Amino acid sequence: MRVRIAPSPTGYLHIGTARTALYNWLLARKHKGTFVLRIEDTDVERSSQEMVDVILESLKWLGLDWDEGPYFQSRRVEIYRRYAERLLKEGKAYCCYCTPEELKERREQAIREGRAWKYDRKCLYLSEEEKRKLEKEGRPRAIRFLVPPGKTEFNDLVHGKIEKNHEDIEDFVILKSDGMPTYNFAVVVDDHEMGITHVIRGDDHISNTPKQILIYRALGWEPPLFGHLPLILGEDRSKLSKRHGAVAVLQYKEDGFLPDALVNYLALLGWSPGDNREILSREELIELFSIERVSDRNAIFDRRKLLWMNGEYIKMKSEDELFNGVWEFLKKEELVKDEEKEEKRDYILGFIKLMKERCKTLKDFATLGYYFFRDDFELDPEGIRKHFYPGLKERMEKLLERFEKTEPFTVENIEQALRGLAEELGIKAKELIHPVRLICSGMTFGPGLFELLAHLGKERVIRRIKKRLPELP
Ligand code: GLU
Repeated sequence: MRVRIAPSPTGYLHIGTARTALYNWLLARKHKGTFVLRIEDTDVERSSQEMVDVILESLKWLGLDWDEGPYFQSRRVEIYRRYAERLLKEGKAYCCYCTPEELKERREQAIREGRAWKYDRKCLYLSEEEKRKLEKEGRPRAIRFLVPPGKTEFNDLVHGKIEKNHEDIEDFVILKSDGMPTYNFAVVVDDHEMGITHVIRGDDHISNTPKQILIYRALGWEPPLFGHLPLILGEDRSKLSKRHGAVAVLQYKEDGFLPDALVNYLALLGWSPGDNREILSREELIELFSIERVSDRNAIFDRRKLLWMNGEYIKMKSEDELFNGVWEFLKKEELVKDEEKEEKRDYILGFIKLMKERCKTLKDFATLGYYFFRDDFELDPEGIRKHFYPGLKERMEKLLERFEKTEPFTVENIEQALRGLAEELGIKAKELIHPVRLICSGMTFGPGLFELLAHLGKERVIRRIKKRLPELP
């Protein structure tokens, strides 16, 4: 089995292309085949090296390693020209000298007269003399494929039998007047030359497949098998686009998603293992994946579910596995500096352990965990209203005294100190717990208070309580 992903570098790697890449990769890994990467950059004006780099980085980040390539179509133009010439010589293609303006005029006329338009084969019927004249004028010429009569049928691996009457296919251009191949032509030449056995791609290419099969046949080649994946829609059921939120793979990296979670989520977007399991490792996906179980119905991209899944992956990972990812986000928020990486390692591992149940993304560690690193946070005003009460200052002074004497500053000792004081004062422990949490973290929620204080450490806790004493009622 040889499969491929063939992105055009005219934009970032879209989540839909990532899913197509993933399904091809899973098939290659499952069947011990080869996963080929080909960059379809014949649209020179819209392609750029920057986008190529982004595509490679996106695939690497997702862990979809390729076995061959990247091949670049822009470096293979001579090959396409050779095959186009061959079709020309064999009378399976012909030169077209019509200018875009002429075509537009004839198309508009057809529409005015209520006729369906497809290329009218004007140039197929030119006499040798007319052709010579146009050539002498230096008229640019494209090469069109001569669509034979009949119909084309193929058995789509996802949708089943698909057929197309050739009357509905115009003599399409295979080589443009600037000498560049069109998508439909280059893709056939490449898929053949690269020995691709299964073409798995998006549904948006279904209408191209009959044209491609015609080219295979004209060149005397056996077409590969085709499978078209249903589209990915937004929650409003229109095609997934920027309007629905992030669609570029690297945006998910920026937003703190784990590649394993995104891969797992994308795998289920149009495929299921046949039971209710949702959390599946890469190894399980490779083992279970099959094209037969790909749904032929469009899939809906559910951001909440992806977020949930990412949270599940964060919970499943060890602190060590999360360390580098979390570190990057802490750094981006300027909560840590590279030179402190080793010195703060244990503190951060403990922080991850305390926080990972509540973080849905790596970014959450930096936003929800700000107070683990900095004193300059505000207290949640809602929390102040709820948990500060007259006489609190006096109680906090007493608690401070106890904390100063608490040695070592461990979870058990902190709990004992706080509960002991509450008992002596004849109040409920939570009358101290809530305000201390607010003073030490600015928030009304978070990890268990005693674990939190122990982790923040005696010095920080004392400093924070002292700082707030003057403002307490
Ligand atoms: N360059 C095409 C795309 O990005 C590839 C389609 C195909 O896989 O044949 O849509």
